[in-house]
Amino acid sequence: MKGFLKKIHPHQHTLSKEISFSGIGLHSGLPISMVIKPAKPDTGIRFFRTDLQQEIPALMDRVVDTTLATTIGVNNASVSTTEHLLAALTGLGIDNALVELNGPEVPIMDGSAAPFVHIIKRIERKRQDVCRKLLKITKEISFQAGDTLIRLLPYDGYKVTCEIDFDHQLIRKQKYTVDVNSKRFIKEISAARTFGFMDQIEKLRANGLALGGSLANAVVVDQTKVLNAEGLRFSDEFVRHKVLDLIGDLALLGCQIIGHVVASKSGHGHHVGLMKEIVAHPECWEFVTLEKNEKEGVLAKVVSSTREAGNLILPFLVPSNSGVTVPSLRGS
Ligand SMILES: [Zn+2]
Repeated sequence: MKGFLKKIHPHQHTLSKEISFSGIGLHSGLPISMVIKPAKPDTGIRFFRTDLQQEIPALMDRVVDTTLATTIGVNNASVSTTEHLLAALTGLGIDNALVELNGPEVPIMDGSAAPFVHIIKRIERKRQDVCRKLLKITKEISFQAGDTLIRLLPYDGYKVTCEIDFDHQLIRKQKYTVDVNSKRFIKEISAARTFGFMDQIEKLRANGLALGGSLANAVVVDQTKVLNAEGLRFSDEFVRHKVLDLIGDLALLGCQIIGHVVASKSGHGHHVGLMKEIVAHPECWEFVTLEKNEKEGVLAKVVSSTREAGNLILPFLVPSNSGVTVPSLRGS
């Protein structure tokens, strides 16, 4: 085994104990309590609405809405704004966790992933006795819509590049690339806050959205300046937040990508579009399972990129107990 596979920790991880958060929902403005609990290997990240007694796996086939934030749902129970928490869990190498919420949104905290990272980092993550599974990109997969383009390229690591281009004097063109590992995620990406434009926010409020939004949980810009008294955390905080959103949305694949994602002018809906392209093109990736061997250490077992591999990833995307019918991946 060589390169990236040699560097990553072969075991799955969960939290060593539960952690509680409280905050408000960005769109509902409602107070939300959230408890993140340890979970068994191979169960992935799952949300649980305690008020509705409904579990919602954090998987791409459960996405029900992507306007403004990513919302996943099952049976009329939904959880919105999953992306910043899922990015934090990915960045910290947490594979399995149960996230209990008493309302419809993950608390917005300060609009970034930093509060989640700071609290989760304080407790030890727990190594589990099952190895990780990864999705290794072997041929380019792309998603295009209008002037949005997302390319997923073979790469020995997990790298994310985002480009944005806003017709606004404070933003314009920005580009950021990062190899996603805990150290770089925490330092360069986790603290970048969500952002909005004053005129759009007024419209959202008029439509009953962004009710919890304030300068405490978003960067707000008017035509010429940042309205937050403390200013920006990074001069390119806007594009860094796009990287954060992309990492959080791609966590909905249920296993880590080995590849380079290059996204230009993308949003949540496009990220889901890319994941659908991944599922539709099993000839462009391999499913890699890591195995521990007494003599040789950790072995990477590649399930070749065939129909078999396509079928193998399905248990991740659609757990067998879900009752959801999966369309054929590649026709018959
Ligand atoms: Zn965001």
